[in-house]
Amino acid sequence: MRKNIGNDFALRGFVCYANCGVPLRSSWSTGKTRRYAYYLCQTKSCASYGKSIARDKIEGEIGALIKSLQPTKQLLTLAKAMLETLGNRPYHPAPDSAQTGLRRAHSI
Ligand SMILES: [Zn+2]
Repeated sequence: MRKNIGNDFALRGFVCYANCGVPLRSSWSTGKTRRYAYYLCQTKSCASYGKSIARDKIEGEIGALIKSLQPTKQLLTLAKAMLETLGNRPYHPAPDSAQTGLRRAHSI
């Protein structure tokens, strides 16, 4: 196993996102025709312990994830609407009983 790990690993320090959250170890495996870069979880108590994840696979997945997280106009609108809903909640307490009661008292 070679130790020349450098910029080849764009996600060096990336954590075991599936299970323990501990930074994955990056390493190389030598295949028949080429070397394969992979990440490995080193946490013994982790479900992913000793399982290697191909670098190409994980970086492809993360790349797709990051792309999908690009805030679109639609997403921003939705987020804004959600925030407004949350923000308005305190100002609209369930039935406006105090005022209604007062009005009723006056009308009687
Ligand atoms: Zn893990």
